[in-house]
Amino acid sequence: MKTLGKYSIGMGDRFGHQAGAQLAAIIKAADNGVEITPVWNKSNREHTTIGTLPWDVRIEADAAVKKAGYRKPFFVDADHINFDTVDRFIESSDFFTIDVASYIGKTAEEKSISAFVESVEKFTGELKISGTMSLNTTREQIKAITEKYLFAAIRAGEIFRKIETIKGEGKFVTEVSMDEVPNPQTPVELLFILKMLSDENIPVQTIAPKFSGRFNKGVDYVGDPLKFAEEFEADLLVIDFAVKEFGLPENLKMSIHSGSDKFAIYPHIGSVIRKYDKGIHLKTAGTTWLEEVIGLAEAEGKGLDFAREVYIKSLEKIDELCAPYADVIDIDVNALPAAGEVSVWNGKKFASTLRHDQGNPDYNPNMRQLIHVAYKLAAQKMDIYFRLLEEHEEVVSECVFDNIYNRHILRVFGI
Ligand SMILES: [Zn+2]
Repeated sequence: MKTLGKYSIGMGDRFGHQAGAQLAAIIKAADNGVEITPVWNKSNREHTTIGTLPWDVRIEADAAVKKAGYRKPFFVDADHINFDTVDRFIESSDFFTIDVASYIGKTAEEKSISAFVESVEKFTGELKISGTMSLNTTREQIKAITEKYLFAAIRAGEIFRKIETIKGEGKFVTEVSMDEVPNPQTPVELLFILKMLSDENIPVQTIAPKFSGRFNKGVDYVGDPLKFAEEFEADLLVIDFAVKEFGLPENLKMSIHSGSDKFAIYPHIGSVIRKYDKGIHLKTAGTTWLEEVIGLAEAEGKGLDFAREVYIKSLEKIDELCAPYADVIDIDVNALPAAGEVSVWNGKKFASTLRHDQGNPDYNPNMRQLIHVAYKLAAQKMDIYFRLLEEHEEVVSECVFDNIYNRHILRVFGI
């Protein structure tokens, strides 16, 4: 079976120019004793917005790996796919994030529900998950969980088998994601969801629950980091229990979506996974685009002009750009710098406003989130954008590397 390593990181590269810089960060981590499997991911939504094809990601990843002489495993993730969107990803991907969010809350057939509730009878009441943790469940509670999630698990099974029929058994890594929903799943829910996935014979290697708190795109965690740490630890113990009890793959681990820039919780993630010697998959997809804009701004001249133009246009089109991301951004419109103000900024000021450095008084998370969702504007001027990226490759790739290595890998993996 294709197996994902203990530590892995999902990296997005919307415009397909930064795989080399991203891989350099992975190689440096290995040089410093931490093996991290690189996964290049791009969602159906991103492909549609930009006009790229799933094969583009595979071609780019292969080229970067070849150029660097990298001989370890790497993956290409069909991120957030479902039954209707998976087809065009099947050939080029070897990692599939089956997104069941839209199926949660739809109810399965009555007889499947009763059969499931029946089958987990022995887990009602007090259930010892680990030496330090117990769960308490009632039959009514399990029935409610089954009504909420069983249909989604069955759909996940159908999607999994659709992929497996074409790719073959064991030829890909499967993730199941449930993060794009309004309410977090509790550890009890996670336990029974894992049982349902096991019943569907899905060899799930990563699971992406929704956690408490806000995981906004490209900015820090909003919520109580200690509460998150508690929830994360409970989920991790539940996964460990489920692996043993339900026969799920040994390496099953948590996947953190919208995982970039969550600096407030990285120390907690790091200490919990090291405490139990467990793995983690951290998805950091969209921020590479921001690093490109930062790099172009720092390059001054036409690079800075382009960065400014993207921002000023994004102010005009703010509603349209934010709509698809409404659940994962929080922009205070009043705190956005005005177009007139930005048009006289130099590159350094622009870059320090956009870069996620909380110690810098210029840093503005509102502007950062807006530009995060404004990549469509660069896609509309792809020729000019690519020319600028190529012209300023050195400064841009330094920004991409610095972001992945220094702000993410170092903090999560405790190098
Ligand atoms: Zn996600």
